[in-house]
Amino acid sequence: MAVPINQTRVLLLNGSTWEPLAVISLPRAINLLVSEKAVMVEQTGEFLRTVKTRFPVPSVIALRRYINVPRRQAHWSRRGVLTRDNYVCIYCGVTIGSQTRDKVLAKDDFTVDHIVPRSRGGKDQWTNTACACYNCNHRKGSRLPHEAGMKLQWEPKIPRTSYLVIAVGSGPDAWRRYIEV
Ligand SMILES: [Zn+2]
Repeated sequence: MAVPINQTRVLLLNGSTWEPLAVISLPRAINLLVSEKAVMVEQTGEFLRTVKTRFPVPSVIALRRYINVPRRQAHWSRRGVLTRDNYVCIYCGVTIGSQTRDKVLAKDDFTVDHIVPRSRGGKDQWTNTACACYNCNHRKGSRLPHEAGMKLQWEPKIPRTSYLVIAVGSGPDAWRRYIEV
């Protein structure tokens, strides 16, 4: 389903590193492109038409120059962890819609696992928490992954900003490869 052009949001990347900086409006993106402060990275496939020209509608653009931005650390939350991990279990890889022995998994079948359990001093931190299915969470209990014979399939990271995690969760697929959360 096509998004109306005036509601198009554009992902802005930093120069040279292509780190995501912000989600901006289409007019602002066009402005950056036309003033040659940014370059087109991905297009939506649609066009803005004027009397004489057709201007491709951007989905992702990058600044020409690198700008130094202090990193804001996202506030930890259970919901943030589940969104960051896209409801994929860090231990067995099942996700929403996965068929297990007795059911098709839904959002409710996932929880936030503390890699170092809270009972052993593990904190509510981005790097100590990940999405896990209830089976794995239960199996692991209050053990460390290696004690339970379980392996992390990736290393939990601090998202760049909570804002981008939310934006990308509802953003077009074309954005995903530019965002590592
Ligand atoms: Zn699992």
